[in-house]
Amino acid sequence: MRRTTTERLFIVKRTQEKDCRGKITVLSPQRGRLVLMAKGLFKPQSKLSGHLEPLTVVDGLIVWSQQPLLSAAVSRQSFLGIKNDLALTVAATELVRRLAEWWPPGQPLPRSWLDLITLLTQWNSHHYSWSQLTLASQIMSWRLAHELGYAPVGHTCIHCGRPLAAAFWSESQGGFFCEACQPEGLVCHLSHHTLVMWEDLVRSERLELTKLPSSSTILEELTAFFNSWLNFLDLC
Ligand SMILES: [Zn+2]
Repeated sequence: MRRTTTERLFIVKRTQEKDCRGKITVLSPQRGRLVLMAKGLFKPQSKLSGHLEPLTVVDGLIVWSQQPLLSAAVSRQSFLGIKNDLALTVAATELVRRLAEWWPPGQPLPRSWLDLITLLTQWNSHHYSWSQLTLASQIMSWRLAHELGYAPVGHTCIHCGRPLAAAFWSESQGGFFCEACQPEGLVCHLSHHTLVMWEDLVRSERLELTKLPSSSTILEELTAFFNSWLNFLDLC
């Protein structure tokens, strides 16, 4: 008999394959990103279909073989508050798309999993402005990068090694410089206050949405830094 397990899964997306089969991309706290097949998912009478909407947490029964099969699922959290709000749906879909791209297969990421569920649960039941949604998405992305070990470290200048007061992030070098050493080219300035806050948000044990800054200067600095960091990652 084939081995089966019941697993907590977050549904990222599903696509139709031949014979009405569904190909489902999911995130698992213990197994990283997984691709599962579901027989008959796109048949009109499918019982699974309603449970396997993107942006849903399910308990799924997986039959393990060369191509793992999702044979049954029960919704645990369907985030209807997000799905009924266009701005929230756009923000959540965009965030999940990015996380799923970075989330490696086979790697347990318990902290980021908890972050994701915490964030979506908050978004599902509270009102947030667009800039709060954007900032929360950025911090969540930083935190995943940190758990994966490729977020920059903000304590010292990568050139002279001196402790940083304010920091100058270089997109081409992918690191922080002090004022004296900052290189030519595209550089984002982070005030001392912004740098300390960013480190705290990215490194703390839990994602704390209540601690997100509301100062527009900090928001602008963090957003410019985040976009520059994404550009740097694209160059890698
Ligand atoms: Zn320096």
